[in-house]
Amino acid sequence: MLKVKNVTKYYGDFKAVDNLSFEIKEGEIFGLLGVNGAGKTTTFRMIMGLLDKTEGEITLFGKKIDYSLTDYIGFLTEERSLLTKLTVFEQALFYGHLKGLDDTEIEKRLDEYLEKFKISEYKNKKIKELSKGNCQKVQFIMAILNKPKLLILDEPFSGLDPINVELFKKEILNLKKNGTIIIFSSHRMDHVEYFCDSLLILVKGESVLEGKLSKIKKDYRKKNIKIIGDVLKEELEDIKGVLKVEKNKNEFTVQIEDDLYIDCVFKYVSRCKNIIKFEVEEPTLNEIFIEKVGAKYDE
Ligand code: ATP
Repeated sequence: MLKVKNVTKYYGDFKAVDNLSFEIKEGEIFGLLGVNGAGKTTTFRMIMGLLDKTEGEITLFGKKIDYSLTDYIGFLTEERSLLTKLTVFEQALFYGHLKGLDDTEIEKRLDEYLEKFKISEYKNKKIKELSKGNCQKVQFIMAILNKPKLLILDEPFSGLDPINVELFKKEILNLKKNGTIIIFSSHRMDHVEYFCDSLLILVKGESVLEGKLSKIKKDYRKKNIKIIGDVLKEELEDIKGVLKVEKNKNEFTVQIEDDLYIDCVFKYVSRCKNIIKFEVEEPTLNEIFIEKVGAKYDE
């Protein structure tokens, strides 16, 4: 279990992280989200022991994170962190040694992953000769070469084509299955919805929303109703509880302020003709994110 308890970080007078607490169990994927400058990288760096916290406590498996534990942590950063003059194999040796692995084990694991990610032919190529997507694959391999018990993934799919995104997704789910604690950060809410069991949204260093994804969605009272049929936009807009109506091709999306109002929309629709769709949907994480972050951001 990773425990972050009442952690605060000041850079000089500036409070970058404010009294942050969360816990992640083995085999769980946790989304740490926020707009640019919200404090995510600062939090990652404190978890990895690269940055001192001003207050609070961080423990992994009940122990403060020190050098004995960093061997079990993997980190995929948003910035390029590879040594571009080295070959992929030399880079793996460099990282592997830092994580306490011997040459034979490093090469065995590297060969396995290069094959999995279909880049075996690049083993002896210099990093600077690789494409952006292949560099991202090598960065990912470096982050998991030590078979981490805690893995931090910051925008892991950056620069990848859809086929390679699928390869990465499969491997991330494999790691989860093997019990790795995973922190996932991305501005792509569809990826967050796909992976994360729980999440936390940071705004200006402070948590504005935290919990299980399913519960966050259930608790969010606004819902969308999708309708196809002979309805009128203006009439839908006049119904009590309706916040917004959008039309895309022949489908209407009606946003209601609370699920209490589903009935009001249903009553109207039942008087209309040719209704072939009436579906109540959970809000997307994107909608929730924009509302929660927007409200706090404007303060
Ligand atoms: P992004 O999504 O853009 O990567 P982030 O959520 O990772 O952003 P951080 O990099 O943690 O955000 O930065 C949080 C805040 O702390 C920002 O306002 C940033 O300007 C500030 N900050 C970060 N590093 C330092 C530093 N070394 N000294 C002073 N301020 C810093």
